[in-house]
Amino acid sequence: MNFELSPAQQQLVADTRAFALAEVAPYAAQWDADEHIPRQQIQKYADHGWFGMTLPPQYGGRGLTALDAVLVIEEVAKHCGVSARLIVDHNFGAVGTILNFGTEEQRERVLTAVCRGHKLMSIGMTEPEAGSALTDLITSAREDGDYYRLNGEKRWITGAGEREYTLVYARFDGVAGANGIGAILVEEGTPGYIYGPRIPSLGVRGVREGVLRFEQARVPKANLVVPPGSAFGNLMSAYNGQRVGASAVALGLAQGAFDYALAYADQRQQFGKRITDFQNTQFKLADMLINLEAARLLIYRAAAGAKATITERQASSVAKVFASEMAIRVTSAAIQLLGAEGYGRHHPVERMFRDARAFTLAGGSAEIQRLGIAVGVLKRPLPQT
Ligand SMILES: Cc1cc2nc3c(=O)[nH]c(=O)nc-3n(C[C@H](O)[C@H](O)[C@H](O)COP(=O)(O)OP(=O)(O)OC[C@H]3O[C@@H](n4cnc5c(N)ncnc54)[C@H](O)[C@@H]3O)c2cc1C
Repeated sequence: MNFELSPAQQQLVADTRAFALAEVAPYAAQWDADEHIPRQQIQKYADHGWFGMTLPPQYGGRGLTALDAVLVIEEVAKHCGVSARLIVDHNFGAVGTILNFGTEEQRERVLTAVCRGHKLMSIGMTEPEAGSALTDLITSAREDGDYYRLNGEKRWITGAGEREYTLVYARFDGVAGANGIGAILVEEGTPGYIYGPRIPSLGVRGVREGVLRFEQARVPKANLVVPPGSAFGNLMSAYNGQRVGASAVALGLAQGAFDYALAYADQRQQFGKRITDFQNTQFKLADMLINLEAARLLIYRAAAGAKATITERQASSVAKVFASEMAIRVTSAAIQLLGAEGYGRHHPVERMFRDARAFTLAGGSAEIQRLGIAVGVLKRPLPQT
């Protein structure tokens, strides 16, 4: 077991840190206030090689490991959770699904465009009546010659209306249960594919969370990525990487809040002393660091065990539960250390706290992760799963 980063990984972190300090940190508060990150900014991330890092070079990727991607995501999230989420979405999740389950034609067409930043990717799973119980989804796909006709509604889709591709999970030809679910790539401009309203949210405001509607949307069969009847567990395994990526965003946000609060507390004076001279502050800082270090080890372990975009389920769920709950604790503690200043929008810790709150929900709730972990502990399926 080696806890040291390789020289190449140290270089990757140093490069990311320099770029994030120059190109991300100065603008993060503005993007939060605007509730938008400009597309030319996102293009910089692709140009800097942050999209498709984990993909093979033949599709425009860099062939890096999941741990390498996690290091980049963590570093960026110290300054901007939304930018870090963009990197997650363009290395794991739907991108991993296309790499592992798509056709060679899809890999060449779609992944190459994603790595270049020419096309951005969303994941369309959640529906008004199917969140945690994903296998209850009712968005339907029916065969119609060389096309499928899609009907239904998706909710809480990150990037809805801002990204050209959405990997949509649908029920094919009315087959009930997990066996009827497959995934098809829907492209912007598809007839019958409608962007619904934005869902205003507590945090991660630089990206649009929204509704997608399909009204007889006509999608070519060539865009079917995962046919129905494929083992649902295998299909979802591509999201183990997404969980690790989301955990790294939570970790970076918490580390960013810790760094900021430490610098503030060490110069703030009350009762004629620095507040770091009070034992309460010292213990708070120590507890924050313990939380950060524990999360980091769990995330790195989950990422190190990953084969490119696929990670072991148990390790990724353990990391996600701990890191997402840790980030809420640590960003909240950072606000407390700044006193009233921490509650103000002129310091970044309130934004980091709001952003961190997303991760016990997005990408599968902490409760559903715990259920998955319990399945591993008990070694049998549970009724709710
Ligand atoms: C910021 C953000 C971004 C998101 N981005 C996307 C996206 O890009 N694409 C996408 O498809 N979805 C996305 N989601 C949706 C997300 O995946 C769902 O919110 C999540 O799966 C939970 O579903 P739900 O919100 O419907 O909650 P529900 O399933 O209604 O659950 C409500 C509560 O009940 C708990 N619960 C449910 N079932 C059980 C059970 N069996 N045992 C114990 N507790 C249970 C849940 O943990 C939760 O606390 C996003 C959500 C957020 C907040």
